[in-house]
Amino acid sequence: MSQNESNPNPDKNNNFFNKNPLITFAIFSIVIIMLFKAFIGDENELAGKIGGQSVTRTQEITYADLKRLIENKEVEKVSIGQTYIRAIGSDGTGKVAYTTRIVGPDATLIPLLDEKGIDYNGFSESNWFTDMFGWLFPFLIIIAIWMFFAGRMQRNMGGGILGMGNSKRLINSEKPKTKFDDVAGAQEAKEEVLEIVDFLRFPDRYVELGAKIPKGVLLVGSPGTGKTLLAKAVAGEADVPFFSVSGSSFIEMFVGVGAARVRDLFEQAKKDAPSIIFIDEIDAIGKSRAAGGMMGGNDEREQTLNQLLAEMDGFGTDTPIIILAATNRPEILDPALLRPGRFDRQVLVDKPDFQGRIDILNVHIKGVKKDADVDIEEIARLTAGLAGADLANIVNEAALLAGRKSQKTVQQTDLREAVERAIAGLSKKSRRIDEKEKRIVAYHESGHALLAETTKGAKKVSKVSIVPRGLAALGYTLNTPEENKYLMQRHELMAEIDVLLGGRAAEEVFIGEISTGAANDLERTTDILKAMVQMYGMSDVAGLMVLEKQRSSFLGGGMTQGREYSDKMAEEMDAFIKKSLDERYNAVKARLEEYRGAIEKIVELLYAKENISGEQVREIIEAFEIENHIETKLEPRKGIPASETVTISD
Ligand code: ADP
Ligand code: ZN
Repeated sequence: MSQNESNPNPDKNNNFFNKNPLITFAIFSIVIIMLFKAFIGDENELAGKIGGQSVTRTQEITYADLKRLIENKEVEKVSIGQTYIRAIGSDGTGKVAYTTRIVGPDATLIPLLDEKGIDYNGFSESNWFTDMFGWLFPFLIIIAIWMFFAGRMQRNMGGGILGMGNSKRLINSEKPKTKFDDVAGAQEAKEEVLEIVDFLRFPDRYVELGAKIPKGVLLVGSPGTGKTLLAKAVAGEADVPFFSVSGSSFIEMFVGVGAARVRDLFEQAKKDAPSIIFIDEIDAIGKSRAAGGMMGGNDEREQTLNQLLAEMDGFGTDTPIIILAATNRPEILDPALLRPGRFDRQVLVDKPDFQGRIDILNVHIKGVKKDADVDIEEIARLTAGLAGADLANIVNEAALLAGRKSQKTVQQTDLREAVERAIAGLSKKSRRIDEKEKRIVAYHESGHALLAETTKGAKKVSKVSIVPRGLAALGYTLNTPEENKYLMQRHELMAEIDVLLGGRAAEEVFIGEISTGAANDLERTTDILKAMVQMYGMSDVAGLMVLEKQRSSFLGGGMTQGREYSDKMAEEMDAFIKKSLDERYNAVKARLEEYRGAIEKIVELLYAKENISGEQVREIIEAFEIENHIETKLEPRKGIPASETVTISD
């Protein structure tokens, strides 16, 4: 969800003029000047000055010629100005306008005209006023039209050319009433932002202590998981103003508008501090500059991003403003955004698990009249993989269905139907996991988890989940090392391979058929073995010989300079990798067979809860080992550090 635009485009048909203001301006200028010249200029000369007669040609003559023409009565009308005389006569084809310059004062001219009986008058040649006006008038018209369009554009985009940076209307400011209770599930995320609430409420407490408060917090999660809701709840709990913008609304047609808008945003937030700034879809401005570099950068985005960075650096940690930003792709963000003092904290806002979905459904069903037979748990079971926004929609859709059928209450059948409709309308991105897939994923993840817990040197499990994250991963197992490590010993690498193979092996052992779900695991096992041969000197194939230099990660993979070793070596390496994989895979399958009962228990729990902790996994394994008199392979725990080097097997 993003902010509700206070101003939907009133008129979308004027796109051309809105997009090409300069071209519009030029065309109008030219047209108007031409019109003006055609009309007013010639009209004056022919009609005003020569008595309204139309002539076929004009001719310049000498003063003497003019007098001769008068003398011979070859002109019928004469107009006398301050410097010119014009006369109308005719030749064989039509009227001719003669002009000539007056030569000094000539007292004989008027008597001559009287004498010959030729009509004459005087005319006033242009003065400075009419001259000026003639020039000014078209410009006035052009400016009027220009302002008309500019005003229209301003209405359309909330900024406009004349009011660049006057973007108050795109920045939503409110004092939300949302509380943490309105955000169901998401317990971990709520705990992580709790501290921010406290800081916003009692900033002095922290400032006096000299504590550095986080400035930026990145909320990471799929669309509809409640990131905006959570941000609002932080503001609501702290009772501070909430300024929100959407990253995509920064990218405008005029370079500089985005940057100006960022400036405005911070200005307002500072004025009302303590306050919260919420930037939805920050990836729209924060996309890594390196990523876009090939195509030639996007100036507007870069300027906006730079302004954002400057503003974030520009206020001290004692200014109680917290910037919350939402994205579902933190990996594409510019590293500059993630540096200390900027968005240096990430809070995961995951899709809800079974209990989470029950809670969310309950929050939303509170607002509708429901029948006594409504079974929320059933609906939660039907909606594995859906986000909070989808669930809110389902409740609303059910209420609409009930209304259409003129029911007094929402019934279970309405909810079921709403689920079906919602699922049919969902994109692949936010897909429901069906029961069969859920079972496969549960076994797969349990396999990873069991191997992690029963293999010496493996990183231990902190969480197992069959809640899908993103498109690719249908489930995941979080493994945390017991201490921060810079070195990996050989047996630890081998342990990692076993853990990765555990997923595929579990599918084979327990389901009897393998799926495509292990692709990523297999890629990583192969990479590890390859590195052991090529870089770490950990195989008999190459011994200590290095086959592949460690490349700086900057150059990335694609720049291979060709193989620097023999075909025979390559063949041997391939054979080694394949043999090792087969060996480890068989060992892993044997381990799973040994712990069959434990796996079934883990799967059962995981299937029901969708998220389980490493502690729960260990309890099951321990009980199983005692019951079956198996020598324990669980290692005594050291404290699990809050390490960043977690491994995720999906
Ligand atoms: P995001 O910002 O992550 O895309 P939103 O916060 O805009 O998602 O969520 C959209 C709507 O979905 C919310 O307004 C709310 O009605 C519902 N929703 C999402 N997550 C939750 C939740 N955890 N608890 C209650 N409602 C939720
Ligand atoms: Zn896996």
